[in-house]
Amino acid sequence: MATVLFDIDGTLIHTAGAGHRAFADTFRTLFGIEKISSDVRFAGRSDRAIAEELMATHGVASSSENWLRFVKAFVPRLEEVLPQCQGTVLPGVVELLDRLKESEQTAIGLLTGNIAAGAQAKLSHYRLWDRFAFGGYGDDWVNRNDIAAAALAASRTYVAQSQDARSGKTNGESQRVIVIGDTPADVECARSIGAVAVAVLTGGVPREVLVATEPDLLLDDLSEIDDILVQINSVTA
Ligand SMILES: [Mg+2]
Repeated sequence: MATVLFDIDGTLIHTAGAGHRAFADTFRTLFGIEKISSDVRFAGRSDRAIAEELMATHGVASSSENWLRFVKAFVPRLEEVLPQCQGTVLPGVVELLDRLKESEQTAIGLLTGNIAAGAQAKLSHYRLWDRFAFGGYGDDWVNRNDIAAAALAASRTYVAQSQDARSGKTNGESQRVIVIGDTPADVECARSIGAVAVAVLTGGVPREVLVATEPDLLLDDLSEIDDILVQINSVTA
């Protein structure tokens, strides 16, 4: 059994700035911040880490109460701005998901810094949400390696339940994991859970930066499906 965990932004989709815009709009309406600092990096990070750094940068108390207020306002704003931005599903994504779905030996999940409701909003907009049975999300975690551990735990539960439903037996032991993402943080968090790391260049991270992280496979985009399937099949052999 193989588990494939996908990052969202820059890997499955480009939202053309919808996430950043929803962050900026929410900080303006909720905390009165006219322009969020451009020094705060978004790519590869959890929503919670981004929000907490923005709060600290702009003198807003980084409390759990403010985090919950942020989430409540951010998700509906994200749903509003997604259709206004000219985003896209990245090359090869739909075909790769179709191919993986054909295999009963592959479980498909998410490993993302997005909060779960944000992931659902983005992927629902691009009609991809129902492709993913489980995931690790950025709701509770600042560090992406913690999200990776949560995604791994969710995948084990899912695999055990689906095997149980099919055969009456559970066998969560022999699970192999592949993480596909577009930033050094994705490669790093793959390593943190002992997963195979597939890096893809569709998120705008320079090639030499991703090469330096030494992924198991580096792709221009996810249309290189056979190369990905070789990685998946080699770890399930
Ligand atoms: Mg990404």
